Amino acid sequence: MDDTERQGPDMGAFLHLRGNALSKGDPVALPLVQSSMYHLPGEPGSFSNYGRVHNATWVALEHALEHLEAAPCRVFPSGMGAISAALFATLKAGQRLLIPGDGYYVTRLLSDRYLRQLGVEVVERPTAEFAAGGFAGFDVVFLETPSNPGLDLIDLAAVAGAVRAAGGITICDNTTMTPLGQRPLDLGIDMVVASDTKAMGGHSDLLMGHVATRDSDLLQAVDDWRRISGAIPGPHEAWLLHRGLETLEVRYDRMCSSAEVLAPRLAQHPVVRAVRYPGLPTDPAHNLARGQMQRFGFLMSLTLENAVKAERFINTCPLLRPATSFGGVHSSAERRIRWGDAVDPGFVRLSIGCEPVEELWQALKTSLDGVV
Ligand SMILES: *Cc1c(COP(=O)(O)O)cnc(C)c1O
Repeated sequence: MDDTERQGPDMGAFLHLRGNALSKGDPVALPLVQSSMYHLPGEPGSFSNYGRVHNATWVALEHALEHLEAAPCRVFPSGMGAISAALFATLKAGQRLLIPGDGYYVTRLLSDRYLRQLGVEVVERPTAEFAAGGFAGFDVVFLETPSNPGLDLIDLAAVAGAVRAAGGITICDNTTMTPLGQRPLDLGIDMVVASDTKAMGGHSDLLMGHVATRDSDLLQAVDDWRRISGAIPGPHEAWLLHRGLETLEVRYDRMCSSAEVLAPRLAQHPVVRAVRYPGLPTDPAHNLARGQMQRFGFLMSLTLENAVKAERFINTCPLLRPATSFGGVHSSAERRIRWGDAVDPGFVRLSIGCEPVEELWQALKTSLDGVV
């Protein structure tokens, strides 16, 4: 992939999106509009009419997200809110859905517990063999790459093309990469969904999600779902996410650059049995990652000998929050088996944060040295 293809959003223009549209005396920071009612005498026309349908803070946030995704976006109160919107707005009884069997657990639960009961046939396949078996007969193909927590990859352009040729649509969960690290819509994917609770918000203080698509029918379907189901975000969360996005580029750059420095060092540590990180040249997903990702991300996995050693590493490191979720400014880690993921008891998902890399390395190394 050459450099022009790798180009992402123009982040200088992003920082001035709001500023360049201001009138004299307007606040430079985004105002928080916290109202369910609007002053609306006579015919409503196209004015804001009700808080479930219109909110100026969401509109500003969606405008910012649109710049990042190069596609119209709709915001939701969580990543699962966005994923539910994408799936419920596109599937109906009698149709078939393909999802990765090792992707985000709650997406599988949603498909299995609700969509299946409504007459959708749900088929699961492992990420590492996702294209095997083809895509004939699937109405919607849901992808997640890198998979969470295994960090296996799916070839987005190849799958998008094959699904389109077979008459289906593709939805990609891009949570782990953000639009700065991977651009599924540019690779032919029809719809992106993301949890903005993670790196997009970045400060571990909000839950939000969004859907992005360049297909106006799909956008309309998701918009209708939000308005009718009532899955709307709170204005304050929208405001917080907008603020978080203003530092996304510096945070994400620091996190990915640090992960690239740390992964090979961690792989060399005698206590670490295995590291998965798409940026490691020895990683099985490395070549595909080079071809389809702008960055290698900030997530990696370390496998230690057993649960006790892994817990000791996590809980003795002063620069690691022992917490579920990822993508915050603070590095965090957890053993994924505690949630039932099909991984080794000593498997640790590590999210690299914004700490200075050498200080972080010293802290990680000291904790690993103490694991005997
Ligand atoms: C966290 C996560 C979600 C769900 O997002 P919430 O904001 O927690 O609802 C979906 N997909 C992936 C890959 C995630 O990591």
